[in-house]
Amino acid sequence: MSTTRQEIITLLSEGEHGAKDISKIIRISEKEVYTHLEHINRSLKSQKRRLNITPAECLSCGFKFEARNRFSSPGRCPKCKGEHIQDPKYVISEK
Ligand SMILES: [Zn+2]
Repeated sequence: MSTTRQEIITLLSEGEHGAKDISKIIRISEKEVYTHLEHINRSLKSQKRRLNITPAECLSCGFKFEARNRFSSPGRCPKCKGEHIQDPKYVISEK
């Protein structure tokens, strides 16, 4: 397991973070964060921990993006076409 991935696991075990926060703290691109998160999600399934995702939400109308690929951040709201989207947040917890 890479050191970067371990750092993200430690970070998310301590509290909830969005992909932008993670990319700033770990100093990798947001795109890399999503790649790591997908691997972390898979690797934690065999352990007694899990990656919990708070779905993205539209700040204008409250629309929740639960149905789409939850790892990436949506660009705009399909309901009101607003672009003020609260990014998804990730946290690792015990099962
Ligand atoms: Zn909306």
